[in-house]
Amino acid sequence: MPESARIAARREAGLCTACGTGKPAGGRAKCETCLDAARASSASRRERAAAKGLCEACMTRKRVKGRGNRCATCADKYLPRQLERAKKRRRTTA
Ligand SMILES: [Zn+2]
Ligand SMILES: [Zn+2]
Repeated sequence: MPESARIAARREAGLCTACGTGKPAGGRAKCETCLDAARASSASRRERAAAKGLCEACMTRKRVKGRGNRCATCADKYLPRQLERAKKRRRTTA
């Protein structure tokens, strides 16, 4: 089964899309265990990138000052999405 089909099947069954056994809380895709694991791995990834002064998204190019810990390429790629999300957040809280 392709990865995407398996994930869709898990989602439909109300199971964690990552491990397939945990029960995600309130409309989430992953269970607490997998969320914690993802959080921990992205935190250590960020630390490794920061220690070397590398972009935390691609981990290969040098980060650029004022571009949110990312290189120019990744900042340009991610920034529009972040702005979009920030706009939505403002709309819902206002
Ligand atoms: Zn899980
Ligand atoms: Zn990058």
